[in-house]
Amino acid sequence: MNLILLGAPGSGKGTQAEVICKKLNIPAVSTGNMLREAVKNGTAAGLSAKEYMDRGDLVPDEVVIGILKDRIAEDDAKNGYILDGFPRTVEQAQALESMGVRIDKVLEIHVDDDKICARMGGRRVCEGCGASYHMEYKPTKVEGVCDACEGVAGQRIDDKPETVLSRLKTYHEKTAPLKGFYTERGKLVTVEGQEEISDTVALVFKALSIAD
Ligand code: ADP
Ligand code: ZN
Repeated sequence: MNLILLGAPGSGKGTQAEVICKKLNIPAVSTGNMLREAVKNGTAAGLSAKEYMDRGDLVPDEVVIGILKDRIAEDDAKNGYILDGFPRTVEQAQALESMGVRIDKVLEIHVDDDKICARMGGRRVCEGCGASYHMEYKPTKVEGVCDACEGVAGQRIDDKPETVLSRLKTYHEKTAPLKGFYTERGKLVTVEGQEEISDTVALVFKALSIAD
């Protein structure tokens, strides 16, 4: 199964991607995590991406498309994958089509902007493995320490309130048009993000026709 997860920053799509990929035993391909990794490792892609990411802007299509293309060509992606955070522009969606990638469903996790703003302050991401947490909704067992790898679970620089607002604006301008793009292709399924992660998971599994 090849799935796309669509959602504003802070919609919880990263967490949903982790849950679905465990259930289906296919990798979650998060362009945000890959880009952060590239920045950390100082690769060419990372160097060109950093300034955009720190500002909360989208990284240029050609950089992200290149990274994505290499990743889905890897062995573990043979039986399917979940794209988390890609495509983020209509151009990226068209690039996927021209690569001949078949998409089964596009799952949109919908959360209102005011709720997102309230949630973002509590968001934490592991610097080691990229696992996502939330101080209130999904805390680590030990504060600041990743449950999965014992890496540092901290706040991202782009989770500052003013950057969050600009990322939301970018989402509405550049990414939301993908809803129409995939509705036209009969692929879009929308789920309302709930307060409790487990409630959203249940709705997501139902939408994808997967038993709990
Ligand atoms: P969030 O989970 O907050 O939606 P991500 O972790 O997916 O954010 O992405 C973080 C940043 O990485 C984005 O703000 C953007 O700068 C960059 N990025 C990630 N995916 C893409 C993409 N498909 N196209 C362009 N930029 C991207
Ligand atoms: Zn970790």
